[in-house]
Amino acid sequence: MMMPDHHQILDHLSVGIVVLNQRLEVVFWNRWMSEHSGIRLAEARGRPIHAIFQGLIKKDFVKKAREVFRRGDPVFFTNKVHQTMFPFYAGRSYLEKRLKPMQQTVILSPIKDDDGRVAQVLLTVFDITDWIDYRDRLLRSKDELEKLSRTDELTRLPNRRYLLDKLGQELFHHNRRNRAMALAVIDLDHFKAINDTYGHQAGDQVLFELARIIDDSCRGYDIVGRYGGEEFIVVLPDTDEKDARTTCERIRRRVEDHSFDARGRKINLTVSIGVACKKAHEKASADDLFHRADKALYRAKEKGRNRVETTCPGQATGDG
Ligand code: GH3
Ligand code: MG
Ligand code: MG
Repeated sequence: MMMPDHHQILDHLSVGIVVLNQRLEVVFWNRWMSEHSGIRLAEARGRPIHAIFQGLIKKDFVKKAREVFRRGDPVFFTNKVHQTMFPFYAGRSYLEKRLKPMQQTVILSPIKDDDGRVAQVLLTVFDITDWIDYRDRLLRSKDELEKLSRTDELTRLPNRRYLLDKLGQELFHHNRRNRAMALAVIDLDHFKAINDTYGHQAGDQVLFELARIIDDSCRGYDIVGRYGGEEFIVVLPDTDEKDARTTCERIRRRVEDHSFDARGRKINLTVSIGVACKKAHEKASADDLFHRADKALYRAKEKGRNRVETTCPGQATGDG
């Protein structure tokens, strides 16, 4: 049986194949190259590759190709670093006139003669446009999902999961570096009555407005989120009791002064706030802070609501 013509085999590949001699002149290229470049092999043969595709010079191609001849090691051109090597269009878009630049991976491999010297360089050109598209789309949806998983749907604020993560991280750093920080738990007063009077949807609208007020009352590096129901949380990095109280008083006052919209009716609401402080040299856990903040909140409710109460270490035993 006669061996089939190798060029015929190469013409059926859906990758670009180019063979260059030591002067970087085209010795052979397959049909894929002709289709994408619009240049037949007969026209390309004998011409330096960088004379045919002048853009290659800018991309270090000539230098790298000579390196393959000198060193005998393959070289990869990846899309990320060099963008498109050949000025081709993706897939069969050159036929469909939906011209989209082709993303490529190009491999330069040494072809050695019997003495082990590099006689020719083989170029393999891969169209990776689809692959890059899929990857980009996957990365985008991953980002969106991650954002969704840490966002509260109703208020668009960070949700409980995110808050607990952040609180843990902040506590770790503040404990280690002996820095003061505070945690505030904010709870709407008599919120059940709003739902009962104006309906759950009006209640949701109130929660959305409240989220904006709390968020706007805090500093850029404070972490504001919805802990659940009508409870919001603020993590206050590098904040002592006095400053925490100032921030929380500001929130309390702004809520008190705000007219909320309940199905077209303007209503007034108040919040109670419990604050827990971690002193600079104290080591505290998230549980400690939540326990203290809850106790303070309970006290604020007991004392008549629309108040800020704080619980700092030592206070409970009377020495703080
Ligand atoms: P207090 O001053 O003691 O905090 O009274 P309250 O009525 O605010 O407290 P309570 O815990 O009894 O009621 C909280 C209400 O918050 C009950 C629930 O219907 C409402 N609520 C919790 N989550 C949501 C929500 O996502 N949307 C709406 N509209 N209401 C919610
Ligand atoms: Mg509550
Ligand atoms: Mg409440």
